[in-house]
Amino acid sequence: MEATLCPKPHFVVIPWPATSHMIPIVDIGCLLAAHGAAVTIITTPSSSQLVQSRVDRAGQGSAGVTVTAIPFPGAEAGLPDGCERTDHIPSPDLVPNFFVATARFGEAVARHCRRLPTATAAHPRPSCVVAGMCHTWAHGVARELGAPCFIFHGFCAFALLCCEYLNTHRPHEAVGSPDELFDLPALPPFEFRFARRQLPIHFQPSSSIPEDRHRELREFELAVDGIVVNSFEELEHGSVSRLAAATGKAVLSVGPVSLCGAAAPPSLLDSRANSDDARLCMAWLDAKRADSVLYVSFGSAGRMPPAQLIQLGLALVSCPWPVLWVIKGADTLPDDVNEWLQRNTDGSGLPESQCLALRGWAPQVAILEHPAVGGFLTHCGWGSTLESVAAGVPMATWPFSAEQFLNEKLIVHVLGIGLSVGVTKPTESVLTGAKDGGGKADADVGMEQVKQALDMLMDGGADGEARKTKAKELKAKSKTALEHGGSSYMNLEKLIQFGA
Ligand code: UDP
Repeated sequence: MEATLCPKPHFVVIPWPATSHMIPIVDIGCLLAAHGAAVTIITTPSSSQLVQSRVDRAGQGSAGVTVTAIPFPGAEAGLPDGCERTDHIPSPDLVPNFFVATARFGEAVARHCRRLPTATAAHPRPSCVVAGMCHTWAHGVARELGAPCFIFHGFCAFALLCCEYLNTHRPHEAVGSPDELFDLPALPPFEFRFARRQLPIHFQPSSSIPEDRHRELREFELAVDGIVVNSFEELEHGSVSRLAAATGKAVLSVGPVSLCGAAAPPSLLDSRANSDDARLCMAWLDAKRADSVLYVSFGSAGRMPPAQLIQLGLALVSCPWPVLWVIKGADTLPDDVNEWLQRNTDGSGLPESQCLALRGWAPQVAILEHPAVGGFLTHCGWGSTLESVAAGVPMATWPFSAEQFLNEKLIVHVLGIGLSVGVTKPTESVLTGAKDGGGKADADVGMEQVKQALDMLMDGGADGEARKTKAKELKAKSKTALEHGGSSYMNLEKLIQFGA
């Protein structure tokens, strides 16, 4: 890909500091660079290595990318030392402080950008800003630069369309209880019903995010020039054009962005994966038959209460298929649960073991692309969902929170590439610092219910074959979307035009 425009556009990309958000937005920066733009990614000191290694894996896309670290004023806002990402926040009480710190970080970014006009030919004055969804100040920075501003939520277009419908029509406010189902007809002819408790946090009656912050987030959404989405148009049954019509904004799907580093070896595919763990996983997968392995993971931070983890574990160890299970927060689980895990799972990657439990950071993209993987039990985070689509792997869905119940409908009902475990209640988010392994909550989902869904996922007869076929078709379409002339390729070119 070559630069076709002069002067070279310069994108300032400002990730919202949450690991799973940073991964795709950095990939978007790399794709823009591969399409000829200069790109500056602005982050904080403790995330700069993570960002830089993600950039390095992009090969062709990494050359035009500069990573700039600006100090994060966490201590000034009452946060503990080193707390620079949402996954570092030790308690929900400190969420408002984190927002205060990110607002002050915005002031520092604005000062930095004001100094940028003395830029070099390789990095001319910024001509477009792409900012994470809670960096509400980014719009002001872009206006000062005289540049357009795009928002990146990390949600798919379908979920954004549902949110737009909720914001406009507010059907969730007419229900009597958080469990009562209501219609959300955002994408006819599909029919969807949700309970209020299944919606993203800003549609809940109370949350740890203050009301005025919600208002500010909405004002930011309304003010931006466009929306960048990690998805591809063919995937979402018209959600992209409907979202553009509903918001009056440019909506550009430029994914699946995980494919931008697909040629890199697994050790580089994920800088956070401990290379020993990554090797162990890949060697264990190498010893398994094609399509035989069930991969289980609930995102960058998804942790369930210990009682629920045991029900899931009982289902997994009784599966006839090999299982690769990624467990987050294992170091804070109660002793009896850790002992159960040690007795019933393998942590060392013995080739003959049936249930490999990985306690750290898994090289997920490489795992999903391994030919041995035949199914994915997922929390429906959009990053994981799209990575599964790009790898052609059908899913069993277990949404936890955020927009994941919306994504579940897309996976199961719109795309037909997954089946629901049947979870109706959100899993309370368990913060990294929790010392009791996530509380004393009972298990909502029993072992038998999980097992039934997994049986259908891995051996679902004609329905299972249909899901597999559709998943493989979408895998092929996802690759085409990013190739020269494909829909995501063309949308990247359109985004470049905004910065020209
Ligand atoms: N991920 C990973 N290894 C892990 C856990 C997560 O590589 O052990 C990556 C995964 O590939 C995806 C992101 O982290 O890119 C998770 O994003 P998603 O939107 O699925 O979920 P979230 O973490 O936001 O709940």
